[in-house]
Amino acid sequence: MKQDFTETLAHVSTGSSPSDLRITDMKIADITNAPMHCILVKLETNQGITGYGEVRDASCKDYALMLKSRLIGENPCRIDRIFRKIRQLGTHARGAGGVSGIEIALWDIAAKAYGVPIYQMLGGKYYDKVRVYCDTDIDGKPDGKRMGEALQSRLDAGFTFLKMDLGISLLRDVPGALCAPLGFLDDMKRARGFSGYDGSIEDRFAYHEGEFLTTIEHPYTGVQITEAGLDWMEQYCADVRSVIGYDVPLAIDHLGHIGLNECIKLGRRIEKYNIAWMEDAIPWMYTNQYVELQRAINMPVCTGEDIYLHDNFKPLLESGGVSVIHPDILTVGGIHELKKTADLADENHVAMAVHMAESPIAALAAAHVSIGCANFIAQEYHSFDIPWWNDLVNGPAKPIVDHGFITLSDAPGLGIESLNDEVIAEHLHPAVPGVWESTDEWNTRYVHDRIWS
Ligand SMILES: [Mg+2]
Repeated sequence: MKQDFTETLAHVSTGSSPSDLRITDMKIADITNAPMHCILVKLETNQGITGYGEVRDASCKDYALMLKSRLIGENPCRIDRIFRKIRQLGTHARGAGGVSGIEIALWDIAAKAYGVPIYQMLGGKYYDKVRVYCDTDIDGKPDGKRMGEALQSRLDAGFTFLKMDLGISLLRDVPGALCAPLGFLDDMKRARGFSGYDGSIEDRFAYHEGEFLTTIEHPYTGVQITEAGLDWMEQYCADVRSVIGYDVPLAIDHLGHIGLNECIKLGRRIEKYNIAWMEDAIPWMYTNQYVELQRAINMPVCTGEDIYLHDNFKPLLESGGVSVIHPDILTVGGIHELKKTADLADENHVAMAVHMAESPIAALAAAHVSIGCANFIAQEYHSFDIPWWNDLVNGPAKPIVDHGFITLSDAPGLGIESLNDEVIAEHLHPAVPGVWESTDEWNTRYVHDRIWS
């Protein structure tokens, strides 16, 4: 007998007809100084539901646009099926930005279609709100007192967890603090002056040379910190703690490209200042060296913001190389991969912090996962000094990060009703202008994508 569910469905608030949903278009807007370059993504559908996503900070919209022809005509509610199709086209770090950003937009559409917040689709809230830690870079903070004062301003605003940059770049002008092949540090300093994929061929050659120098893997730079340099770093930490006290957790990041032994020397010197974690000390794929580092210093070791797909966290988690993992939702593969990563870490009794340096879209997407994870510690926030950051989206209660926490409402999807095009237009990236312009030229690319035959 054919069953007719018309009467039953009349009592169900679906908000849409999910089975008939189709993706019809993808649009992009590039903004800058948020404080990073952020690439905002809209996926449009045949039922007026728009999904919001974002490509990883400092990446490129082409990573999303190259996937457009694979998406047009798909039902966005088939999240896992679409993800399995496009995940082969992502890779670690910025190269995962397109796959991850689109996956988030699919969850946003599906959750809006069924009328539930994303966190509920993942199993519901474990915490009432999402703890946010405030990152603090070294610009304008040449000594520990000034860094301490900057961190104190975050404490005064209600943050309960802090991070600061602490790297060899602080030692560049300290006499006798660094030991390196003679001339190398001067080359590094010059390399930072080159910028941009523009200018003459020779300008571009110089740019590539600069990029080469700043991406040499840690053990290959030959840079060492001297005793004088370690004294200076130790004093920096002592001065920071003299301002903020010892009650609040304080993580460190951006050590610079130094090898394992230097990280151990530095870690042992500053462990008395109660460092919450040492982040990305060496490249994340150096599993054996991570194990050695974690065993050598009395401070949690952390990495993960450049790892694509939860499977790739297994070597670090199963070997005991980290005490904290630090995935970025725009690199790990989006909503579901972040949840799978958290669960994998949980199985290995490792805590999860979440890297986040982007717009409110990424912040809310990550928060929808974080709030449901028992092993979650805190989620990153870079935009404390950017007053218009909150105004990019309409829908969530403002400020989105309030006294150091994000609270998620019962609104469907990410909880974003719309984006604020006026604010976006005021902060467009000068090298990538245009707001939600046509991307039709990407509609018809065809490739027989598969990684097996
Ligand atoms: Mg980091």
